[in-house]
Amino acid sequence: MADPKGFLNTTRQGPKRRPVDLRLRDWNEVYEDFNRDTLESQAGRCMNCGIPFCHQGCPLGNLIPEWNTLVWRKDWADAAERLHATNNFPEFTGTLCPAPCEAACVLGINDDAVTIKQVEIEIIDRAWEEGWVEPQPPSVRTGKKVAVVGSGPAGLAAAQQLTRVGHDVVVFERADRIGGLLRYGIPEFKMAKHRLDRRLEQMRAEGTEFRAGVDVGVDITVEELRADFDAVLLAGGATAWRDLPVPGRELSGIYQAMEYLPPSNKVQEGDMERSPIHAEGKHVVIIGGGDTGADCLGTAHRQGAASVTQLEIMPTPPQTRSDRNPWPTYPTLYRITSAHEEGGDRLFAVSTQEFLGDEEGQVRALRLSEVVFENGRFEPVPDSEQDLPCDLALLAMGFVGPEKSKLLEGLGVDYDERGNVARDDAFTSTVPGVFVAGDMGRGQSLIVWAIAEGRAAAAGLDKYLTGRDVLPAPIAPTDRPLV
Ligand SMILES: Cc1cc2nc3c(=O)[nH]c(=O)nc-3n(C[C@H](O)[C@H](O)[C@H](O)COP(=O)(O)OP(=O)(O)OC[C@H]3O[C@@H](n4cnc5c(N)ncnc54)[C@H](O)[C@@H]3O)c2cc1C
Repeated sequence: MADPKGFLNTTRQGPKRRPVDLRLRDWNEVYEDFNRDTLESQAGRCMNCGIPFCHQGCPLGNLIPEWNTLVWRKDWADAAERLHATNNFPEFTGTLCPAPCEAACVLGINDDAVTIKQVEIEIIDRAWEEGWVEPQPPSVRTGKKVAVVGSGPAGLAAAQQLTRVGHDVVVFERADRIGGLLRYGIPEFKMAKHRLDRRLEQMRAEGTEFRAGVDVGVDITVEELRADFDAVLLAGGATAWRDLPVPGRELSGIYQAMEYLPPSNKVQEGDMERSPIHAEGKHVVIIGGGDTGADCLGTAHRQGAASVTQLEIMPTPPQTRSDRNPWPTYPTLYRITSAHEEGGDRLFAVSTQEFLGDEEGQVRALRLSEVVFENGRFEPVPDSEQDLPCDLALLAMGFVGPEKSKLLEGLGVDYDERGNVARDDAFTSTVPGVFVAGDMGRGQSLIVWAIAEGRAAAAGLDKYLTGRDVLPAPIAPTDRPLV
């Protein structure tokens, strides 16, 4: 156990964000450095529970009490080793995860949970600084060739696992750079891309091959793919976005979030000076109150928007857990992300009725009304309409599943009732030798689930190729969050 009295004597201390006026002038990560002595005493708050519910909360089954104890004992190198035992990329979850582990922390029943996510990011940051993160190339080679389609967290986790057990792994990505949503969805201020790049360097050194700019199913036919590789892992994400079919949707100035965020990320990569879709001086309305909407919000503020309003159809969430959402489930709460702290208005329980345009066909306003949930649907409240000025509308309403692309059609995979690629307990699709992981099989989800799925699908694929059972499979396809 860490400090036996830590949870009694030490109060939770989380990371601090840089001042808003400073961080809006750059694209650097928003959090300040965390003092390592303080971090060690924070780790000491862990009670090493007999039944560590944090394991249940984390899809990866992270060994949280073990690394908390090791950090408290200042044994950071061993803590890094225990962290990597269950997670290929703790820097992705340490910066981006909503931390269901903290929601399930036993201390959270009547006190503030252990700051698990901060301990995680500090361990991995220190491990990189100290040179403890080294390539782990395989000691034997199987001679089997595996194609991984898609380079988001699911594809990368699977590729690393499969390379390390000796397969020749090629990761295909249709974008011009590797990383999936980590590269072109998530803005630099949430996770700096050098975190991704150094991990890719490690993977290259281990022997994973990356081919960017290749749309599998188009640039390489399905027949070529099947002929060249012994097995295929599909990790193409849930990229089919939900649209808003209301009057005026055809006006210019209305974009999907994933049309808006990638060029902004490309500016940060140095590919261009200015994004072709820019918020400077504009009244921006973001439709959708989730993570994607918050990323649009932070981006629009950094681009110099005149105003930003974020709309959410659901009512304002409570400030504390409701009785229907008890510990250790993940609580639906009113959250103020770093982007919300930076400004803008938030409207809840509202729905867009139409977009209004000018003579040139450019959006100039958005008409909304308040809504109530009745008889299983959102109904507009009579006489509650109002018009918001809007020169740039960003649709951030989520994704409906994978694109029914030439790749999926060509392979002939089946879909489940939600339109995702169907798979069995070993993550095999209905086509033998073709596996599926991440959002493509689960539907729109989280990075931590994508990594867990990538690891588990790699285990199934390795068993298919070799008959052995050596890789860990942290989850089953049917596992769901504690909600
Ligand atoms: C804007 C945004 C912000 C988010 N923020 C967070 C967050 O803060 N925390 C969190 O936990 N989750 C977040 N998420 C969700 C998270 O990013 C996803 O759940 C996760 O990235 C899914 O990983 P994946 O590997 O399954 O797919 P993806 O990351 O979507 O990667 C799939 C890749 O496959 C490629 N691909 C598809 N088809 C082909 C093909 N035929 N040939 C070659 N390549 C192909 C795509 O181009 C894409 O790059 C966010 C999502 C969005 C959209």
